[in-house]
Amino acid sequence: MTERENEMLKLKPNCECCDVDLIAESIDARICSFECTFCSECKEQNFDGNCPNCGGELEKRPIRPAEYLQKYPPSTTRFVNQNHADQPNFNSRGSSS
Ligand SMILES: [Zn+2]
Ligand SMILES: [Zn+2]
Repeated sequence: MTERENEMLKLKPNCECCDVDLIAESIDARICSFECTFCSECKEQNFDGNCPNCGGELEKRPIRPAEYLQKYPPSTTRFVNQNHADQPNFNSRGSSS
């Protein structure tokens, strides 16, 4: 038996930018190689496909099979990087009436 828990993806529960829920089964979750986690909408509309933290590629997060989710549950620690909210694209909504 080897201890593999440190090798798992954390499966973070939300988008670092807009804080939308990204459940472990979500097909909209995107991660970079450092596991910065975003939703597909932020990736495409705000970041032009690359991670805003490290500049690396954002790819679809693999979905952990349900039987393993019970044994290896996803992270419940929410994290939002406020810096992303300063991006011009992100603030350009809702000021016209
Ligand atoms: Zn988002
Ligand atoms: Zn990153």
